[in-house]
Amino acid sequence: MAHLLSDTELSLFERLQHGAKGLKFRNWANTFHCKPLFCLAPETECEIIEIVRIANRHGLALKPVGTGHSPSDLACTDSVMLSLDKMNRILAHDPLACTLTVEAGVLVHQLNSMLEQRGMALSSLGSISDQSIAGAIATATHSTGMAFGDMSSTITHLVIIDGTGRRRECSATVNPDLFDAARCSIGALGIITQVTIQCEPAYKLHAVQTPDKLDHILDSLTEVVFSAEHVRFWWFPYTDNVAVWRANRTTLPKLPRVKSLWRDRLIGYHYFQLRLLKSRLTPNDLPSINQEQFSHRFDRRVEYIDDSYKVFNFDCLFPHHVNEWAVPWEKAADVFRQLRAWIMAEEQKPDGARVQFPVQARFVKDSNVWLSPTYDRTVCYIAIIMYRPYDRAVPYKKYWRVYEDIMRTQSGRPHWAKAHKMYYFDLKKVYPKFDDFVKLRRECDPNGIFVNDYIRRHILPPDEPILTSSSGSGSQLLTCEKPKL
Ligand SMILES: Cc1cc2nc3c(=O)[nH]c(=O)nc-3n(C[C@H](O)[C@H](O)[C@H](O)COP(=O)(O)OP(=O)(O)OC[C@H]3O[C@@H](n4cnc5c(N)ncnc54)[C@H](O)[C@@H]3O)c2cc1C
Repeated sequence: MAHLLSDTELSLFERLQHGAKGLKFRNWANTFHCKPLFCLAPETECEIIEIVRIANRHGLALKPVGTGHSPSDLACTDSVMLSLDKMNRILAHDPLACTLTVEAGVLVHQLNSMLEQRGMALSSLGSISDQSIAGAIATATHSTGMAFGDMSSTITHLVIIDGTGRRRECSATVNPDLFDAARCSIGALGIITQVTIQCEPAYKLHAVQTPDKLDHILDSLTEVVFSAEHVRFWWFPYTDNVAVWRANRTTLPKLPRVKSLWRDRLIGYHYFQLRLLKSRLTPNDLPSINQEQFSHRFDRRVEYIDDSYKVFNFDCLFPHHVNEWAVPWEKAADVFRQLRAWIMAEEQKPDGARVQFPVQARFVKDSNVWLSPTYDRTVCYIAIIMYRPYDRAVPYKKYWRVYEDIMRTQSGRPHWAKAHKMYYFDLKKVYPKFDDFVKLRRECDPNGIFVNDYIRRHILPPDEPILTSSSGSGSQLLTCEKPKL
């Protein structure tokens, strides 16, 4: 492809080259990788517009990328990858409205510090702060709390460069359809360059984690989900054990989280990883590993008070496969019961599937963001996980299949960042605005320069023609390398 570029175009690409040429891109979990032809890091919107024009001129595919934390091929391309790493400046601060406007490449942990310095904080935050803000909103990244929406829903204004190279501003009053679509658009509508985020005055959270029993939680779910501002729980399969985490805003003095080298590092990380490594050969160990981890690390009350972002974030240990869908929150108990019944039935079979802990539940308020799993419904996100000890393969596909079948029966919507098996016709059924999104995508990106394998597989109608080519020699677009497993 490079040979098709003019000298001026090539010199722009060379000037904006990010990292060494020919580097492999790997996602955080090292489950998907690809080899982009170019990886560019523009510093201005003008440069992005120029890149989009070049892409259109040559039928070249473009993919914006954040920090590659999505556990799928969502950010993969073998064509031009565009990183906004160098676009991470503050553009405006409105203390009265409690908003901050930043360039879209800002990392969430940078944002946390920027906000702290101005006496503000995000209203809710997921398990990590390593993502870029654009990547986080692109997939409706969420935390937990019945009165708190996902990160996409906290955006009040954004700027996007669409596939024709147009710079478009949008908010609830300016281009409202584009706004509701772009706030969670998995990179399909264009490159988001700026966002304004609705924040709140800085606050501390008082977190309390307690052991409980699954049946008790499921039987009193309504009471549980409203028992604090932010509630999540982890179930330990093969046991009835649950750890429930609750957090509320507080003005009490800080009470630091006490970390134990023995419990958290040695048992909770190294020993756990070793045990999982062995369980690849002896999967029947998994029930006792789950029980053991619960007894060592979760079967006690833990309490701490700290700045909000320090309390929301926690250690996600080592790379894993993860699947996570959102169902209307009232259906969560049914899902847990069906999943438990299947896990128990498999346990009876000598060669049945064995699964790891935890199964995690988080609750998120409804929104009007067209493709957010919270569109028009307050949801419970239920996540299943299979850790990959020392980057080794673990069997997870049967577990995934059964979980997804259960989630479908409850009109579930998958987390966009995660690898899932919902396609155009399935998604149309669960997203009332899906066709509007597809139509808008066509308008924003008529040549399909932002289409990669993921977008083609999940978003495009099967017969949608796409004009770009990563090689410049046909209509085939992108080929991400397959996951290692
Ligand atoms: C350890 C771990 C913990 C996690 N915890 C949570 C959690 O608690 N809650 C949750 O909901 N998710 C969680 N995630 C998922 C994570 O938040 C999402 O995958 C998020 O999208 C990652 O952001 P990123 O910057 O890495 O984006 P990438 O993975 O690089 O890209 C994601 C998408 O964003 C698009 N994109 C990136 N930049 C732009 C841009 N400028 N304009 C337009 N589109 C763009 C890409 O094209 C792609 O479609 C977790 C992931 C990991 C690995």
